[in-house]
Amino acid sequence: MTQISRRSVLATTGLGMLLEGFLKGWGRESARDAQAAKTQDEGDTKSLALAKYQPVSMVRLKETHVPRAKYPVIDFHTHLTDSAKAVNGVSLGSERVIAAPPNELFPVMERRNILALVNLTGGFGTGLQDTVARYDKSFPKRFYTFTEPSYHLFQDSKYPELQANAIIEAHQEGASGLKILKTLGLYLREQTTQGKLVNVDDPRFDPMWETCAHLQMPVAIHVSDPLAFFKPTDRFNERYEELSNHPDWSFASPEFPSNEQILEARNRVFARHPKTTFVALHVGNLAEDLQNVSESLDRFPNMNIDIAARLNELGRQPRAARKFFDKYQDRILFGTDATPHGDEYPQQVFNDSLYEIYFRFLETDDEYFDYAPAPIPPQGRWKISGIDLPDAILRKVYNQNAARLLSHTD
Ligand SMILES: [Zn+2]
Repeated sequence: MTQISRRSVLATTGLGMLLEGFLKGWGRESARDAQAAKTQDEGDTKSLALAKYQPVSMVRLKETHVPRAKYPVIDFHTHLTDSAKAVNGVSLGSERVIAAPPNELFPVMERRNILALVNLTGGFGTGLQDTVARYDKSFPKRFYTFTEPSYHLFQDSKYPELQANAIIEAHQEGASGLKILKTLGLYLREQTTQGKLVNVDDPRFDPMWETCAHLQMPVAIHVSDPLAFFKPTDRFNERYEELSNHPDWSFASPEFPSNEQILEARNRVFARHPKTTFVALHVGNLAEDLQNVSESLDRFPNMNIDIAARLNELGRQPRAARKFFDKYQDRILFGTDATPHGDEYPQQVFNDSLYEIYFRFLETDDEYFDYAPAPIPPQGRWKISGIDLPDAILRKVYNQNAARLLSHTD
């Protein structure tokens, strides 16, 4: 029997030629790829794209793992629900989107020693009712929901009164405080999205602030944003990559007021409503200038701050931050800005790693570590050092200061 090789059969059918040709071609392809990668690497040493730069630190330092907070934590700044339909932070209806139900949050809370979460974006109306029922009322002392202004009523001539009444209603429904998004001062206009910009200290909000004082509801206020967001997105901007990725976060154009103008208007509100308790979120939104925040805290006894999403700032000036925590230990609240499934913003995604970084910053003297669970630092290319707070201050920051504002008891 003649042994016919597979090769000769293939060759006679012509298929072999095709296959051989293909294999040779494939070999050439992969060689070309390798060459391209080599050329690219060589090119990189001369001009590497910033987005590709991921330097590995060679410094060898102590690394402390802090899997659980030393004392139970009240996270004063999370976003568990959000408006289903909003334009620049103006909710167009009361419907809420739920980022994660309580049962999805508990495992992280148990592992990391998180006693309670404050959900700042609870909205208003039926959306608020649903949120309070699902979280606060189902799990008392584990969740606190805040209400938000009804800006969709802003054009109504009775807005000041309607807004004050909405706060009273929200309080009756179980809201624990009021949250102001940066919408106020940057986006809200006379005709909601058009017309003249509405100032933070517009007197039409006075009844709202006063009602909060009357009902002892703390006001969590986020106005303005990091200083770099008010500078052009160019090679001198320390948040260049972040602003390039999110061009809508830039307020450098003349249509926006300056950071200073917004904060001055905010301070006039603090001065005009001394009985209202304010928590100026994100280290008073001026963590780059702790001296300035200190001056505001000295001027306004009704002002407190949280540290949410500002470890990048506090941790790059650890000695100044430590002094700041010493001096204002009764007015600093633990907050993270944690958002379940907020993977796009690693500095505020609700997960185990995020909390561990906060604990490491507050509890250790570790140096030069990442402030966010991300391969590239998302809020500026630098690292942070811990501030090693003593136990008495840790207790206040972790839970006592927030407990006082929320009337939370064990
Ligand atoms: Zn927030």
